[in-house]
Amino acid sequence: MKFTKLIIELKPSRIDNGGVGVFAVVAIKKREKVTDGIPIEDFSGVVPWGEFEYLNKELQKKVMDFCVGTSEGFIPPDDNDFNKLSIEWYFNHSCNGNLGFDKNGDFIAIRDIKKGEELTYDYGLIESNPNFKMECKCPDINCRHIITGNDWKFLSKDKSKMKYMHPFIISLIRQDQAMKGMTKSIDEADRGLRM
Ligand SMILES: [Zn+2]
Repeated sequence: MKFTKLIIELKPSRIDNGGVGVFAVVAIKKREKVTDGIPIEDFSGVVPWGEFEYLNKELQKKVMDFCVGTSEGFIPPDDNDFNKLSIEWYFNHSCNGNLGFDKNGDFIAIRDIKKGEELTYDYGLIESNPNFKMECKCPDINCRHIITGNDWKFLSKDKSKMKYMHPFIISLIRQDQAMKGMTKSIDEADRGLRM
């Protein structure tokens, strides 16, 4: 019988005190795919924030703790069922995470990872809900302390982060740049008219 290679497992987190974390069962090489991520198509099926208001408190907490959000809504688990979240839902945030995204939106190692290391990623690589905010106590010297759904805007200026951004965020950055380009050409045209 053929089994899929065992790569990750759940254990008590070292970074999120009292929480659960995901750990490497084997050594993982830089650029190696760790697990399926979030395909870009899922971003067109977000649950609108308007519906969030009608969820009970327990479900709202699950959404805030686990779901990737955008300005429009959040990405729900399979079958909208939080009773069966798979392991990759438990990756914690770190400002200097060892995982990022490839062009398919899957999780890949951004450096060589040792067996037994906790696997984390920078939530700024994918989160774009403008109301998202969390405290970070990761040990990195560049820890941002408060992580928000707007971090992608300045992280996109950092080449090492940009390389591992989720394709959905890359599309947002392109839209942003196109808008700025448009404003710039409008400004220039405006100046041209006044000259
Ligand atoms: Zn941090």
